[in-house]
Amino acid sequence: MHDTRSTMRLTFKYPVYPTKAQDITLFEWLDHLCELQNSARHDRKVAWETEGERVFLNDQQKKLTVAREKYADFRAVPQDMQACALERMDKAFDGFYRRCKNGAAKKGYPRHRKRIKSMTWKLRKHRVKNKSTGEYERVRQNPIRETEWKHDRLKVPKLGEVKIYMHRPLEGDPKEVTLVKKASGWYAHITCELPDTPKVEPTAAIAVDVGTTHYLTTSEGEKEDNPKWYRQAEGLLRKHAKDLSRKKLGSNRRKKQQQKLALHHERTSNRRKDFIGKLVYKLYHHKEKNVLVSENLNTSNMVQNKHLSKSISDASWATFFKWCADIAERDGLHFHQVDPKNTSQTCSSCGKKSVKKLSLGIRTFDCSFCGNSLDRDHNAAINILFRAAAAFRGERWVTPLYEARNKNEARDTGFKHVEQLFLFDAVTSSSL
Ligand SMILES: [Zn+2]
Repeated sequence: MHDTRSTMRLTFKYPVYPTKAQDITLFEWLDHLCELQNSARHDRKVAWETEGERVFLNDQQKKLTVAREKYADFRAVPQDMQACALERMDKAFDGFYRRCKNGAAKKGYPRHRKRIKSMTWKLRKHRVKNKSTGEYERVRQNPIRETEWKHDRLKVPKLGEVKIYMHRPLEGDPKEVTLVKKASGWYAHITCELPDTPKVEPTAAIAVDVGTTHYLTTSEGEKEDNPKWYRQAEGLLRKHAKDLSRKKLGSNRRKKQQQKLALHHERTSNRRKDFIGKLVYKLYHHKEKNVLVSENLNTSNMVQNKHLSKSISDASWATFFKWCADIAERDGLHFHQVDPKNTSQTCSSCGKKSVKKLSLGIRTFDCSFCGNSLDRDHNAAINILFRAAAAFRGERWVTPLYEARNKNEARDTGFKHVEQLFLFDAVTSSSL
């Protein structure tokens, strides 16, 4: 029964502390893998441009085996990592071939990389004799050796053990490990496979409307401000970049400044993740909601507006939605996205569309039909909630409803979800 159930993948991230010697080796490996990846790209490029032919991963893997027999520098790097580098190229080219076939405008040819910052290896299964039964079993390699000290050890092929700080335990079956070099140091990303969390019965829903003046507004009228550090981060970024441009090319000071800038980027991104993570958690868990609805924001629309595209928060909405979907999948909750068309132009009380188009500057929605007056974003959030409810019913608004687990397919719900629709009705009528 468990076999038929689908699985999800979670990635656990931990800081690792290689020694000076290990650090040097890891950098050598990164250089080697980068070169390998680029030559794999070149191989495919030549075949594509001269013969119009595809190169298959299998052929490249065979070439790798030959190269490992011939050259000592190939043998110095773990084969599992080399195989993963080839796979990475294969994935990139798969996308490219597919886009060519579909005749997409942007083919997205895989690029030549100056450097790469991560290496991946898969954890294999090996045969282990079970002591009590005496039979052989296939057991997945455990990448961690536990110690009684603060740091445990991560087993890296050909390198030995590297200090790792396990601030939380691994869950599920570890499948692969990626070592990532960031400005602040090395990190291990361990991807584990777990059985899917069963979806809870939806009982309470909330909708959010994202905006620039406030980060978001809920259908209950609560607002979340844009974090204060956004502005500060922008200013500091400008300063660091300016300082960098003044430093001489190839100088030590330039290197130091580059490190500063990289650290700034990393910190800003960490802050953003922290903010988004806490916000998503708040919406689902603190508010005890198990259904979250948002608009299906098409970012290409947003970029057309010059004033909006400047703001940092733009970039983070895509991340916010992704996290909403990911947390919903992890915790068995529900996340839906609805078409945002006219949500800010329609009265949430009587359902009539505003006669005049409301410009972004006007912050309250005044209905000329029923006299309802409401905060603009609050009104939009309620409309989003309505739209999700209507989509469950499959009536009134013809709106595709996107389920987090199957984003690309608009679900044809029909009348299958009658209980859920009552739930939405209860929620929406109580919020008015
Ligand atoms: Zn109205």
